[in-house]
Amino acid sequence: MSSSSSLSSNSPCAACKFLRRKCQPECVFAPYFPPDQPQKFANVHKVFGASNVTKLLNELQPHQREDAVNSLAYEADMRLRDPVYGCVGVISLLQHQLRQLQMDLSCAKSELSKYQNLGGMIFILSLFVSISVIRTVRISRVK
Ligand SMILES: [Zn+2]
Repeated sequence: MSSSSSLSSNSPCAACKFLRRKCQPECVFAPYFPPDQPQKFANVHKVFGASNVTKLLNELQPHQREDAVNSLAYEADMRLRDPVYGCVGVISLLQHQLRQLQMDLSCAKSELSKYQNLGGMIFILSLFVSISVIRTVRISRVK
C-alpha cells in the first residue's frame, strides 16, 4: 500500500514517530499531532499515556477529537509545568484576579456615585446661592 500524496503523509505523525511505529493512513493521531509538533504528543503521552489517548479518541465523534486533543495538550503542558496543581493552578489564579477586578470595579463604582451625588449637591447649592443673590439684589433695590 502506498501512502497518500500530501506532504505530511510522507513522514509519520508525531505520535507514530515517537512510538516508533508505521503511521497508517487511518492513524487516529495523525490529524492532531503533525510531525512538526513533536513536543505536543510527547507531553500528552507523558501525562496521559498513548493507549489512554487512543481509547479516548476512538470513543469520541470525529468532530469532537480536535477539541479533546487541544484540551489534553493544554492540560498535559500545564501539568508538566506545575506538577502539583496543573491547569487548576492557572484557573484559581485567574479566578483570584477576577474577584480582585470585581472588587476594584465595585470600589470604582462606589467612588463614582459619591462624585455624582456631590455634583448633584453642588448644583442644588449653586441654585440656592443664585436665589439668595437674586433676593439680596431685589431687597437692596427696594431699599
Ligand atoms: Zn500516526
